[in-house]
Amino acid sequence: MRLILMGPPGAGKGTQATKVADHFGIPAISTGDIFRANVSQGTELGIKAKHYMDAGEYVPDEVTNLMVRNRIDEPDAAPGFLLDGYPRTTAQVEELDGMISFTGHKLDAAVVLTVDADELVARLLQRAQTEGRADDTEDVIRRRQELYTKETEPLIELYRSRGVLVEVDGMGEVDEVTERVFAALDIIPES
Ligand code: AMP
Repeated sequence: MRLILMGPPGAGKGTQATKVADHFGIPAISTGDIFRANVSQGTELGIKAKHYMDAGEYVPDEVTNLMVRNRIDEPDAAPGFLLDGYPRTTAQVEELDGMISFTGHKLDAAVVLTVDADELVARLLQRAQTEGRADDTEDVIRRRQELYTKETEPLIELYRSRGVLVEVDGMGEVDEVTERVFAALDIIPES
């Protein structure tokens, strides 16, 4: 199963990603988590990514694409993977297309979690208190939402036009949302 999980900041992608990936026995690959791990370890990649992340900007495509390519090449991703937070730009979509077709597979589904704007803000403010992420301040949250609308939201129509879009209502309790994702994906024939 090769899946991507999309949705605006605060939609609950990270929470759902691990549950969905476990269900299908594939790794959940979160570009944000990989960047954060590199920042805290002070690697070269982390140093490159940090100032973009702190400002709520996207890390440049060439850095992100290479990182994803290397991660997808790991043996645990051979049976499939769930990407959380990638692709976010049309250039990343093209790159991912190349990575997947190179292995002779196809993308099974692009899942998008839909959540009301008010609920998104409430969730992000809650997360700011519990997780203390450097990019969960009001200004940075606003910038991340702006970038999502401009750069990433258009990808929803792109995947719809390809017939792989799966829209899931992301409102409500975590477990209810997970069940909706399972129900939507369980009827998709695996490639
Ligand atoms: P996330 O945890 O998905 O909200 O990502 C946190 C931050 O990591 C983002 O605000 C970006 O700075 C960076 N990031 C994560 N994924 C990508 C991506 N696909 N392209 C560019 N930057 C990314």
